[in-house]
Amino acid sequence: MPTIETIAVIGAGTMGHGIAQVAATAGFRVQLHDVDRESLARGVRAIEANLAKGIQLAKLTEDDRDRTLQHIRGTTNLEECAAVDLIIEAAPEKLELKQNILRQLEAASDHSFIFASNTSSLSITEIAASAERAEAVVGMHFFNPVHIMRLVEIVAGRKTSDDTVQTVTGVGRKMRKEPIVVKDVPGFASSRLGVALGLEAMRMVEQGVASARDIDTAMELGYNHPMGPLKLTDLVGLDVRLNIAEYLHRELGSETFRPPEVLRRLVSEGKLGKKTGQGFYDWTREDAHRAQSS
Ligand code: NAD
Repeated sequence: MPTIETIAVIGAGTMGHGIAQVAATAGFRVQLHDVDRESLARGVRAIEANLAKGIQLAKLTEDDRDRTLQHIRGTTNLEECAAVDLIIEAAPEKLELKQNILRQLEAASDHSFIFASNTSSLSITEIAASAERAEAVVGMHFFNPVHIMRLVEIVAGRKTSDDTVQTVTGVGRKMRKEPIVVKDVPGFASSRLGVALGLEAMRMVEQGVASARDIDTAMELGYNHPMGPLKLTDLVGLDVRLNIAEYLHRELGSETFRPPEVLRRLVSEGKLGKKTGQGFYDWTREDAHRAQSS
């Protein structure tokens, strides 16, 4: 199995900066890449802010912070990233963009890196479709915020080798994540189950079974979920959830994922959840925020 010492993270946005942070804290030498200089600088500032918060909460020492920052180098030159052992791609969710990044990296070097995509919905097999070494292409699906959420889904495409899966599983553990291995199917494991629960909760609201708050309380207190499915939908964004539901309904052909009317109606009214102030909760009211942190 290849030894992983150096990692490049492509895309320094919401996910990329978090992945770079946990990789550097785990002792890997990290190159953080973005096409946009300002986004790269913002990503580094976000890492510094996360580390400062860690110190404030006594979870990290100043030495930990310094060691992490020393391990990270920013770059806007993609080709420089082709010499590392593992590339974790966290660029926008567009198939062609991800395929292009992989193609450019393969063309830039004959170094045999592993290419892991942080895609939340695209097929790893399709991302690898035009790769020279599809056996070294895999999914590493982290969750937001990366430095806090413990799960990483390792997604094995049709041609991904067992060696690749085992290697990135080991990297995930070193990053102090709990890896699970999933087949390359739409929604992987986490989105498929999480979205199914959310959509059923919406249908229960439609049928007047209970209020949104009471349905959430059922899952929070009855099943120990840290947050009920409707509150979570409000935080993720109803538009985002609708897109995923439509995609899973189409791809899996299952009625479980048919978007409920209430979801379509709220989205068409511009009620997209916390970001617009209204969703299944009224976020302009103080008690919705309290419910979020309870
Ligand atoms: P984001 O928009 O916050 O960040 C994307 C970054 O990529 C931006 O900084 C942008 O400048 C940069 N970028 C654009 N084109 C690029 C290119 N060609 N090369 C290098 N960098 C480029 O996006 P995000 O939310 O971090 O999502 C990134 C990936 O992670 C997506 O595939 C998404 O589906 C997945 N994901 C997101 C979440 C989430 O909660 N946000 C969770 C899991 C997985």
